[in-house]
Amino acid sequence: MTSRKPIVAGNWKMNTTIAEGLALVDEMLPRLQALDAVERVVCPPFVSLSAIAERLRGTDVGVGAQNMHPESRGAFTGEVAPAMLEGLVGYVIIGHSERRQYFCEDDAFVNRKVQAALGVGLVPIVCVGETLEQNERDETEAVVTGQVRAALDEVQHVSGVVIAYEPVWAIGTGRAATPDGANETIGLIRRTIGTVAGEQTAGGVRIQYGGSVTPENFAAFIAQPDIDGALVGGASLKADSFVEIVRLAAAARV
Ligand code: PEP
Repeated sequence: MTSRKPIVAGNWKMNTTIAEGLALVDEMLPRLQALDAVERVVCPPFVSLSAIAERLRGTDVGVGAQNMHPESRGAFTGEVAPAMLEGLVGYVIIGHSERRQYFCEDDAFVNRKVQAALGVGLVPIVCVGETLEQNERDETEAVVTGQVRAALDEVQHVSGVVIAYEPVWAIGTGRAATPDGANETIGLIRRTIGTVAGEQTAGGVRIQYGGSVTPENFAAFIAQPDIDGALVGGASLKADSFVEIVRLAAAARV
């Protein structure tokens, strides 16, 4: 059995007002706190981070941002710098496919963000994954290994990174990958990390699966040897489903 602690993170995307976010956290918190075999993280929209971080202070439920700019300050209207997140959150999602697709973020920009996040002590949750077209053209291996190599280029502290394998065609579609297929690609990601940072480091890096994870399908994912948790979108917006996914992660590691 692996010694990697499972990590389940909820990506709330552009959903929830501050009041709705607080209500969601309040509904989940007592049950989440009991599941400390799993690293649990919620990633609300920026405007809610302060209120939710305050509500979770003193608990071991982590808070993450959904994005971050790599520059430390300056004329980047609407953006948030790494130091602004320092002390507020412990995690930041980087390179989500929606950022890559709608905001034209490329691998080099993702790499700068990874370095910047680690530089201020945040855990980057780095998203990689192929599109449907790439999948159908059998390019998954090349795309995903290329994204991992680029994201980790010149990164000194690879063990401080979490990777989320999220096939783009599985995000928000209700069409999850197969657990076997996801494990295979995640194994490939682990081997790729090994070539970049050494096998020992690669063996300790947590790699999540993401893409239409639900309480109904997650047991089969977390039973896979290389899958260390989930990045959850839609199902993280309902207290019962997010808590159940965390519970399944905890149950799989006893
Ligand atoms: C995500 O936003 O990272 C995600 C995986 O979304 P969903 O679970 O809704 O597919």
